[in-house]
Amino acid sequence: MRVGLYPGTFDPITLGHIDIIKRAANLVDILVIGVANNNQKKPMFSIDERLELINYEIDKINNLFDVKVEAQSFDKLLVNFAADLKASVIFRGLRAVSDFEYEFQMVCMNRTLRDDIEIVFLMAGTEYQAISSKLVKEIAILNGNVNKFLTSSVNSAMLKKLKKGSI
Ligand code: ADP
Repeated sequence: MRVGLYPGTFDPITLGHIDIIKRAANLVDILVIGVANNNQKKPMFSIDERLELINYEIDKINNLFDVKVEAQSFDKLLVNFAADLKASVIFRGLRAVSDFEYEFQMVCMNRTLRDDIEIVFLMAGTEYQAISSKLVKEIAILNGNVNKFLTSSVNSAMLKKLKKGSI
């Protein structure tokens, strides 16, 4: 059984993430979406809210693919979390050249810590490549329409969150 881990903040999950999840799901038997419980990033959505939104989306994906996709939160070192899961591969998405430098450093550091887990980079389909949770939040806060970047359930959750003014 090949286990893959796709880690991130997913604040919130976007169509870009979902595209990467589908691509990664094609390459492993079990795919774990690792949701970083890292308050330093001051997420808009709590860890439970992010997991709930992801679980709703992966239920749909699980019906499409012959693999098991599940979400788990983590607050430890990424390579240690991957080792606990017995993951042989960590997936990361690459958007633009701007992602490269940080990801390059991450790979080098993580390889030094553990060399038995391969890190694989995937690119989303053209229409999803430029989507980032950070920009989606910035647009939504300024009352822009973000429904082209999110599923309808995530879009509703975002509108609800902004209406409540709880950010
Ligand atoms: P992180 O805080 O780890 O960057 P994110 O939730 O922003 O968490 O992203 C998780 C992973 O998904 C990262 O590898 C990021 O590059 C990737 N990703 C996010 N959006 C896209 C996208 N539109 N296309 C490809 N990869 C993406």
